[in-house]
Amino acid sequence: MLLELLFPRRCLFCGRVLASGEKDLCLPCMVGQRYNNSLIEKYDYLITEMPYEHLDIFLNYNKCKEAIINFKYRQNIYSGRKLGGMWARHLESMEWMKDIDAIVPVPLHWRKLLKRGFNQSEYLGRILSKQTGKPLVTNAIRRHVNNNPQVESDNRWDNVEGIFSAKDLSLIANKHILIVDDVITTSATINNLLKVIKKAKNTKVSLAFLSSNMP
Ligand SMILES: [Zn+2]
Repeated sequence: MLLELLFPRRCLFCGRVLASGEKDLCLPCMVGQRYNNSLIEKYDYLITEMPYEHLDIFLNYNKCKEAIINFKYRQNIYSGRKLGGMWARHLESMEWMKDIDAIVPVPLHWRKLLKRGFNQSEYLGRILSKQTGKPLVTNAIRRHVNNNPQVESDNRWDNVEGIFSAKDLSLIANKHILIVDDVITTSATINNLLKVIKKAKNTKVSLAFLSSNMP
């Protein structure tokens, strides 16, 4: 109780001190936390590299932006854990999650991994895996170009293979995988990843993003 007076619990998204009965999020953030549905339709139109089963985008970026930035760039692991927990509960409520065999986080380039110290998608994927009981697969694909493909379009890899390459596709063969990433912006990264994944034998794909920051 004293601890709570000294360190009042704050809203994960906006930082406001929580009222009693509020958990993780304050009421206004709770209300506006979800994405709007038209976003899914827009991405459906843009994600063209291979057909997928389900696409889910969880949180409204305007609401959760600070929490994601705190986690991703300020190493606020508490924020990451909370976001992961909320996301897992959301995905668990989806009927189609029962069909998923494995969770595959979008790989990070090793240079970025060194700089940031962790792969945010893998961190979240680990929470999802633990909570849903679906195994995490991290060694099927590697990222060999450290940039967003749309930023450096003269990159020589763009015309050849894209920014990802196969490492061990047998790990996802004959499986329905859920690809997870924290934020989807353009569809370039995910289309590049699918370019490699569609070479795997008999792999079905679903996609889940914690949030979207569509330009
Ligand atoms: Zn709030």
